[in-house]
Amino acid sequence: MLWSLIKILAFVAAIIALTYGGTILMDLDGGLTVNTGIDEFTLEPIEVVFGLVAFVVAVWLGLKILAFLVAAFKFLNGDETAISRYFDRNRERKGYEALAEGMMALASGEGHLAMTKAARAEKYLQQPRLTNLLTAQAAELTGDRQKAEDTYKKLLEDSQTRFVGVRGIMKQKLASGDTDTALKLAEKAFALKPKHEETQDVLLRLQAEKSDWVGARKTLNTKLKTGTLPRDVYKRRDAVLALSEARDIIDDGKTIEAREAAIEANRLSPDLIPAAVMAARSYMADGNARYATRVLTKAWNAHPHPDLAAAFAEIVADETPQARLKRFHALVKAIPDHPETKMLLAELHIAAEEFPEAKRALGDLVEKDPTARALTLMAAIERGSGADDSVVRGWLTRALTAPRGPQWVCDNCHTVHATWAPTCSNCHAFDTLSWKRPPESEVAMPAGTEMLPLIVGRDKETNLPATTEVVEAEVMNGDGNQKPTEG
Ligand SMILES: [Zn+2]
Repeated sequence: MLWSLIKILAFVAAIIALTYGGTILMDLDGGLTVNTGIDEFTLEPIEVVFGLVAFVVAVWLGLKILAFLVAAFKFLNGDETAISRYFDRNRERKGYEALAEGMMALASGEGHLAMTKAARAEKYLQQPRLTNLLTAQAAELTGDRQKAEDTYKKLLEDSQTRFVGVRGIMKQKLASGDTDTALKLAEKAFALKPKHEETQDVLLRLQAEKSDWVGARKTLNTKLKTGTLPRDVYKRRDAVLALSEARDIIDDGKTIEAREAAIEANRLSPDLIPAAVMAARSYMADGNARYATRVLTKAWNAHPHPDLAAAFAEIVADETPQARLKRFHALVKAIPDHPETKMLLAELHIAAEEFPEAKRALGDLVEKDPTARALTLMAAIERGSGADDSVVRGWLTRALTAPRGPQWVCDNCHTVHATWAPTCSNCHAFDTLSWKRPPESEVAMPAGTEMLPLIVGRDKETNLPATTEVVEAEVMNGDGNQKPTEG
């Protein structure tokens, strides 16, 4: 803003100065007397100035003509390319001008103009390496995919531009959703330039999406070696890949290899819950209860999770509820105040039919952090303690509208997943699932559920509302993966 103002002011000042100078020259007396020997004449001062300008132009033209004459002379003396070189210099200048204008047009979003300039630059420069790139980008900008792809294919022919060509076509395939071809191109681009971070990331994402765990681990390793990934992130992601590999091997029925892979995944990242569960089950299959306990306890201390408790229960499948309670103390003793610990102990006491102890274990969780699970546990405790049906139903009704508590949520798109997976089912991002509370909007209940306490209150002597019955049935049976109380 200020700069343009200064430019305008400078321009006006220059015009004023020129006009003023001209007026002074016109008014000036005298002049330049030229004596040619034969004749003598006097020039007005303004004529002198014009004369000087004309002289400069004449000298410039003379030099141009001289350069051409020199080129012509050299040509006559046998230098065959001298004249073409003289004209080439002009062509080159025009070509680079067109190229620069084309890049400018590209930067300002004028795709069609950029294409025209690219064609002009190509005509003068004959340098497809430079101009094809401009053409491809301009075609992409105008949405002419076919043209862009054709131009990128031309870039494949030159070894110096091959990577740019492969990357260009790969991006086109990714945009059109052809991930199979995109994966092949990403592999090719990776082979050409292993240090290119964007290529590494695209390749890794596609490999994980296609369950090519071995390939993905190699790419991840290159990322570590080329310094595009910190070591701690590498270890965690490598563990996720090792775990995914283990799951696939189990599906193939090769249990021993799967066990080794699961134990390796657990070693790489001890707090990765599904890896700890799988490694613990591998140790159990080997009859190594001590290692299974250790692996699960370590993971529990980092991230308490119902799956870990379920696996911990499996270590000794046929024990009395009292014995189980005693054994579980080893698991939970490090973090006694965690909500997961409180709910787990409450469940174990309910299974042992020790309802006052269960209530004590649950503590103030139903006031301070009333999740659906804590409230349904409270309902079970009340029922076991012989409380009135209306009290039990009151807790269950509250459970219906309470938040679900932590779940596997994608850090990237906040999609809630029922079970852990290496890639998000919604946004396909790799290793983004973490065990946490989903954003509030995700668990909001329809407004109609607020009516339930009224319905429950009115019908307490007759039949239960169907919804309450379902929840109650779930509490009594235990649900999903949260059943450490079952043998
Ligand atoms: Zn996601």
